[in-house]
Amino acid sequence: MTTTSKGTALITGASSGIGAVYADRLARRGFDLILVARNGERLRKLADRLAGETGRKIDVLVADLTHRQDIARVEAVLRAGSGITMLVNNAGVGATAPLLASDIDKMDEMIALNVNVLTRLTYAAVPGFVARGAGTLINIASIVAVSPETLNGVYGGSKAFVLALSQSLQHELADKGVRVQAVLPGATATEFWGIAGLPVQHLPSEIVMTAENMVDAALAGLDQGERVTIPALPDQAEWDAFEAARRAMSGRLSSTTPAQRYRTAAAQA
Ligand code: NAP
Repeated sequence: MTTTSKGTALITGASSGIGAVYADRLARRGFDLILVARNGERLRKLADRLAGETGRKIDVLVADLTHRQDIARVEAVLRAGSGITMLVNNAGVGATAPLLASDIDKMDEMIALNVNVLTRLTYAAVPGFVARGAGTLINIASIVAVSPETLNGVYGGSKAFVLALSQSLQHELADKGVRVQAVLPGATATEFWGIAGLPVQHLPSEIVMTAENMVDAALAGLDQGERVTIPALPDQAEWDAFEAARRAMSGRLSSTTPAQRYRTAAAQA
């Protein structure tokens, strides 16, 4: 049991799955916790267990992050909490149906939670981290951020946003003492799949990781200073090459003249 506090970590979506494992692991690492989700009963049960097992201070903040007033309460806690040293932006929902089989209102709700809420909470926490010269932001994206063909395209797009925002923040906050990690889990055995319309039992078992292994790998990546962690990717060099190609190309994406292949007669006129 750790006795020195590492400050307080606020975890969204802590009532189940990946978020609940983050709660367990971070409490054991010495963080006090603020656990956020809708299901207060589950949160309180987890908080009681972790407080008993680790001696840490574990608070529960019941909030539906699709409700404006509830988001505002969580934002206020993040803004006011000088003891908050980590935000885990984990709450999210997915979908497995293709675009034409999906309800636009459900897609809109998904964007609201996966994109808008994550952005608002980031804006609430990061200025304090910068002012204090320390803090850690963990954004739970997904492998669909770089493989949008895999599931529902709006879900993939929402997670591509999480990855791009994280990379932009890494760039912007590089010399401010703030760590930003994007985690890209592959299929992970949680309730996510049933809620998204395809229970996890229907996936080939060889591609499914336990939430415990996923979170332990992600925290190992954080300890190693990784900015983007893909727990299942066997060879880190593959991601590094992908990133290097992207960064190299970024210097050639803007110019006064169109590329040679687009210089048609009309474009010359
Ligand atoms: P999960 O077990 O369904 O957990 C989702 C969490 O988000 C729950 O704690 C849920 O709690 C909370 N949540 C959902 N809607 C909410 C709302 N409106 N307000 C507040 N909290 C809300 O699924 P998970 O797999 O752990 O998902 C966690 C994150 O991992 C998500 O961002 C997901 O996109 C990402 N991810 C999952 C997988 C996977 O294969 N499982 C793969 C890649 C990425 P309440 O219901 O109590 O509110």
